[in-house]
Amino acid sequence: MRLDQFPEEIRSHLIPEPGGELIYRCLSCHAEHSIESLLYTCPDCGSVLLLHDRRFERHKAIGGETWQRIFDYRRMLKIPALKGIYRYHEFIGPVIPLDSVVYLGEGHTPVVEANGILQEKAGIRFFYKNDGQNPSASFKDRGMASALSYINFLIQQGLVDQVLSICASTGDTSAAAALYAAYLKPHVKSVFDDCMKVVEALSEQYNVALLNSKNAWRILGQESYSYEIAQDFDYAMANKVVVVPIGNAGNITAVMNGFLKFFAVGVIDTLPKIVGVQSAHANPVYQYYSQPEEGKRQFVPMTVKPSVAQAAMIGNPVSMPRVIHLVDRYNQAAGRPRVFFVEVSEQAIMDWQLTANRNGHIACTHGGESLAGLHVALSKGFVTSNETAIVDSTAHALKFSGFQDMYFQNSFPDGFAVSPNPALVNQPRYVHPKDLEQVPAPGKPLDKEAFTAFVKAVSGQIAAELGLRKRN
Ligand SMILES: *Cc1c(COP(=O)(O)O)cnc(C)c1O
Ligand SMILES: [Zn+2]
Repeated sequence: MRLDQFPEEIRSHLIPEPGGELIYRCLSCHAEHSIESLLYTCPDCGSVLLLHDRRFERHKAIGGETWQRIFDYRRMLKIPALKGIYRYHEFIGPVIPLDSVVYLGEGHTPVVEANGILQEKAGIRFFYKNDGQNPSASFKDRGMASALSYINFLIQQGLVDQVLSICASTGDTSAAAALYAAYLKPHVKSVFDDCMKVVEALSEQYNVALLNSKNAWRILGQESYSYEIAQDFDYAMANKVVVVPIGNAGNITAVMNGFLKFFAVGVIDTLPKIVGVQSAHANPVYQYYSQPEEGKRQFVPMTVKPSVAQAAMIGNPVSMPRVIHLVDRYNQAAGRPRVFFVEVSEQAIMDWQLTANRNGHIACTHGGESLAGLHVALSKGFVTSNETAIVDSTAHALKFSGFQDMYFQNSFPDGFAVSPNPALVNQPRYVHPKDLEQVPAPGKPLDKEAFTAFVKAVSGQIAAELGLRKRN
């Protein structure tokens, strides 16, 4: 729809102007730092940061219902910069002008309801939100769109002239970083050897580099996941449960912060439950919260064991201070416990992933982890069967298909402790009738008689193996 076709009272809100006053806020010493330089940790105390809009309160004047209409109408606009995570511009990156936005088709991933069989197995109504349908096939694109749009903004403001876009990851983060950094081409110097040197130099001081989720801009972009869930369910968050896997804990940080912001302004009137899931092979966040007495909780980094939820195999999550801070705020704002943590076995992750995908989904192993976690949350009573869950499949099934192969071929190394359930193993069955002499091959067709014999023999054997009844 063109701008002049929208209701008059909403028109002035539809195309956002840069606004607000974003600053980095340290979660430990509470110092505030300007966003005009690229910061990853607090210069005063070394702790992690979150981005905060000093003028956030101004959003309350507009009111929750008007915000809902703004986002719903924005959906009809044809402006690329507002088609992705910046549909929620005022909540995602209010200072970023639309012409700095790098949009590659991220966000607004499908929410797909599970079929009856799968819901029955899970014991609850649920939807998968397929974040594997992002451009680089994982949710990391949300954070990367935010981080690179910000860098683009700094370049356009003349605040930086050369940026090395680097990232010391071999997985989903680097795939997303490579994609988005390509759009800063004219200004970005990204020679591989130079990058390696910088990554090395950085990694002497930090165990992580620039574009991983230590970067608060990544968190900001990933908040879009919560905003989309709110919008896709018409902002009705009562009786909703959002289930996410936890690795470095950036994603659950963003999910909590996103819902908190919408709640503060009245875009939603209930905070959904959040269930964070970890594999028993990499479960430091779960361990921390398994101590029920708050005063006795102590964070202990752990040595991880091999996990099929490979992108979440992290023993010392960089966002742990953010999680501790936000779980408190979330539960306080809700007035009751709303964030829960569960652990699942490697076996359960694989079994649930394959069960889901047999029922029409495209969940990655982390999506299997989420679903396994939902099941545990139900059995523990954190969630009840009259609620509705939105389960995060953080990447596409194809990205982690090697684990499915291991499952089907029963070739998991011992460390994983996964053995296949025969009912979930999909192996091709070879059909070759004993008395069949000739089969067609590429470039070698059979004559008519032999071909008829071939069709009859093969279809007959398939029917026999499947126990099909003849039509009368
Ligand atoms: C990064 C990642 C995770 C873990 O997210 P964190 O923000 O590190 O907790 C889970 N699944 C996939 C596919 C990922 O790429
Ligand atoms: Zn500090």
